[in-house]
Amino acid sequence: MDITKIFGSNVFSIKTMKEVLPQDTYKALMETLTRGTPLRLEVADVVANAMKDWAIEKGATHYTHWFQPLTGSTAEKHESFISPTEEGWVIMEFSGKQLIQGEPDASSFPSGGLRATFEARGYTAWDCTSPAFLKEDAAGNVTLCIPTAFYSYNGHALDKKTPLLRSMTAVSRQALRVLKALGNSASTRVTPTVGPEQEYFLLDKNCYRRRLDLITCGRTIFGAPPPKGQELEDHYFGQIKDRISLFMKDLDVELWKMGISSKTKHNEVAPGQFEMAPIFSTANIAADHNQLVMETMQKVALRHELVCILYEKPFQGVNGSGKHNNWSLATDDGLNLLEPGHTPHENLVFLVFLSALIQAIDLHADLLRGGIANSGNDHRLGANEAPPAIVSIFLGEELTTILGKISKGEAMSAKGKSFMRIGVDTMPDLPKDNTDRNRTSPFAFTGNKFEFRMVGSSSSISWPNTVLNTIVAEALDQFAGRLEKAKDINTEVTRIVRDVIKKHSRIIFNGDNYSQDWIKEAGKRGLPNITSTVDALKCWSRNDTVALFQRYQVLDQEELLSRYEIFLEQYAKQINVEAMTAIDMVHTRYLPAVMQYTSTLAEAVLRLKHVACPHTLQLNLLEKISGLLYSASSKLERLEGETYKAMAIEHACPKAEAYRDHVFQGLQDLREDIDALETMVSRDSWPVPTYADLLFMI
Ligand code: ADP
Ligand code: MG
Repeated sequence: MDITKIFGSNVFSIKTMKEVLPQDTYKALMETLTRGTPLRLEVADVVANAMKDWAIEKGATHYTHWFQPLTGSTAEKHESFISPTEEGWVIMEFSGKQLIQGEPDASSFPSGGLRATFEARGYTAWDCTSPAFLKEDAAGNVTLCIPTAFYSYNGHALDKKTPLLRSMTAVSRQALRVLKALGNSASTRVTPTVGPEQEYFLLDKNCYRRRLDLITCGRTIFGAPPPKGQELEDHYFGQIKDRISLFMKDLDVELWKMGISSKTKHNEVAPGQFEMAPIFSTANIAADHNQLVMETMQKVALRHELVCILYEKPFQGVNGSGKHNNWSLATDDGLNLLEPGHTPHENLVFLVFLSALIQAIDLHADLLRGGIANSGNDHRLGANEAPPAIVSIFLGEELTTILGKISKGEAMSAKGKSFMRIGVDTMPDLPKDNTDRNRTSPFAFTGNKFEFRMVGSSSSISWPNTVLNTIVAEALDQFAGRLEKAKDINTEVTRIVRDVIKKHSRIIFNGDNYSQDWIKEAGKRGLPNITSTVDALKCWSRNDTVALFQRYQVLDQEELLSRYEIFLEQYAKQINVEAMTAIDMVHTRYLPAVMQYTSTLAEAVLRLKHVACPHTLQLNLLEKISGLLYSASSKLERLEGETYKAMAIEHACPKAEAYRDHVFQGLQDLREDIDALETMVSRDSWPVPTYADLLFMI
């Protein structure tokens, strides 16, 4: 396989554009791409036509404006290129207007009150910074996909991409001010770079099909622990089985064709769990690509009689899945602003940007937490293998020491090495390995970038990155103000570091984030520990949050509040589906199976009585099972009652709270009995595949 021939073959990339566009059109488009100059319709017409010819040559019949509504997945409505002629024939057409704007019916997408239902209009607009690509399906359809933003008639963002793009502009603007004040006038743009590592499970399709909970909720609602879990630690980085390897190979090819640089693949900690990591790219492209990764994983898995599960915690007691969001800032001329660097000039840049991160994360830890909140992550955060719900930063010993010393104005020496005072001489070059691999921190510095590990495996990375960009923009804005006024830049940088360390060092924690001691320690430091989605989401309705997002023109009040509503609604709906699924499974699967088994046992007891044999064993078992059966059926009744009560609540917040406090709790209670029954009832009578079947049958 020649990867260089496959890679990007389905992308209308810069390379392709250079080949197929007239020179002046190419130049004009590049202006738009690199400088953000508005795209003229004449230029768009030429681009559209070339794009269409390229796509048709590759078998495309349709195009779609591909966007990310607030549902969490992507949306597409396919239009064919055909256009009728007077002679009753068709020609293939695609105009500049069709390329840059679309008008899908918006009424069935969540809008959180942004768009009255009678005003169904929604528009999509081409995000030309993310390249158009071709999607192929098993039926042989080839569709030209145009990445777009989705907004309402009034210009309100109805999607996840628009605020991400706005936050990228905000952070770029403030970062450039800082750079300029520090003497860099060469860079003209700063972009957040993101490399999202994607964890997932693969299950056998036949087993999966027999579990309604997996089908409707993406997770198991019931299931006793298997005799073997992950305790032997034999899966992580283990040899990849042939069946999985075939899947991964297929996946790689599909991703490479779409220009997604799938780089790393390996077995993860849990049995049946795996990871794929691409090479990082610009945040909006990374977000588009990650959506495609999730979609393609699911599609390719089916070809191999497998099912890909992206839910954060599919199995209780077994590792969950996350998405490690590696994040940094890069300039258009190739500087990584979180690279510790060699020269004094670069070191000052590093110190200011690192300080900005520390301040931003400490001031807005709750927003980061709110940015990754979903019902799946509630199971994962704080469970022993995942970061806790408390946000903190891992810097590593050496960096922490350095910052501490700068802030005290001391000459620096760390680990036997000597460093001169900041502003006089250089910062040490930090070998990447000096920042030890702390795998327990939710926000870890890993040499030249931060790794945000709280993002859930199923969610879009757009929103967490929007939040991150916005809070960092605020810190940079403040520092830029100080630096622009400073008489002596070196002194001001030292002051900034000192102030940040003084006010915000509580957010730095280099120890074991999974330990109980940390929870106590974090409490003493006053760091928020928000354990439920519903509480985590409340930050989106606060005035100071609205002011922050408004100040950096990321979202206005209406847009932010509508998201708050939608997130709460999604939580309530998800738990509702789980409750309905549990009710269905218990009524139609578990109860009948267990009743059948108890009658077999009862018959045995009667028969044995008749022949005067000892029958205490059977009787004991019968009593125990009947006890659990009775308990389960009353818990089921309670769950039904609580679900209907929660359903009837009108307002989003009390409704979500009722789902969390009563319905979710009811689900957990019911699970106890069903799982206990699973360990007692004959395997032949058990109506669904067990954890052992699901985790090890691939
Ligand atoms: P690990 O699992 O050891 O953390 P991986 O190689 O699986 O590492 O993932 C690291 C991710 O970080 C990759 O996607 C990589 O491209 C990304 N990355 C590297 N440098 C940067 C950067 N400057 N900005 C954003 N992401 C980066
Ligand atoms: Mg990795």
